[in-house]
Amino acid sequence: MRLIAAFAALIATSAETAPNVVTDIAPIHGLVSEVMGGLGSPTLLLPANADAHHYTMRPSDAQVLADADVVIWVGAGLTPWLEAPLDALSPDATRLALLLSDGWTPRELHDGDDHDHGVIDPHAWLDPAVAYAWLGTIAQVLGAADPENAETYADNAERAAVSNVELRLDIAAKMESLTGRGVIWPHDAYGYFADAFGVTSMGAISDSDAAAPGPAHIAELRKMTQSGDVVCVALDPEVNPSWGDLLTEGTDVKIARVDPIGADIPLGVGLYPALISQLADQISGCLAE
Ligand SMILES: [Zn+2]
Repeated sequence: MRLIAAFAALIATSAETAPNVVTDIAPIHGLVSEVMGGLGSPTLLLPANADAHHYTMRPSDAQVLADADVVIWVGAGLTPWLEAPLDALSPDATRLALLLSDGWTPRELHDGDDHDHGVIDPHAWLDPAVAYAWLGTIAQVLGAADPENAETYADNAERAAVSNVELRLDIAAKMESLTGRGVIWPHDAYGYFADAFGVTSMGAISDSDAAAPGPAHIAELRKMTQSGDVVCVALDPEVNPSWGDLLTEGTDVKIARVDPIGADIPLGVGLYPALISQLADQISGCLAE
């Protein structure tokens, strides 16, 4: 009897000690939170309002990486500054770069005369079908790091994936009638969302790492807003909002404030679907007549 009690206590303890999981940005933290469920909470490295492309690590971030058992991040395409610290500070952690995972189709960036394909748009979480694939991959990696809870991770990922399918159907219904109405995006980060829901992308103010645009490019976009080819200019925290005024001045083109990270949404379970729903509302509101 005592042996059984001791054994039960041992199981209870081991089930409670989920690995220490670190994630990069809020949407990935949200997906990992869904997969971990009641087993624990991941740690978020980047504050939700930080600029993912250009971030300066704090000493406390170094400690977070040093303590990690598992690091789940989008990958060097989104946060190039994170690769070297991971090598140096988390050499023994299990590392999952979602951009390098299987089971989804990366979107290639076609910029100018760059003929060697292979530059991947890193903002892939903005397609819920990609998030669906990533939930399964996250469950596999967590299950390998923590085999006793592998089944729970798989069940949680399955549950999240089912509600993800419902979310996609809801948004597709909302966006259906708006196809053909042109959008200018704040930076080249929304292609996955646009492709998933048939949004007509006419261009982006800045490129995929949110660098400042040149005058010729702005003139080209301004032509689109004046000609009526574009009905909505979206702005996000990574671009200067005055570009929006410049592009829409003297036209009926509307401005949408969008957010690819979910800075104003509570962290954890539920952030991801709330982020995608919010983005759909922001864009459909701007595209509607
Ligand atoms: Zn970006």
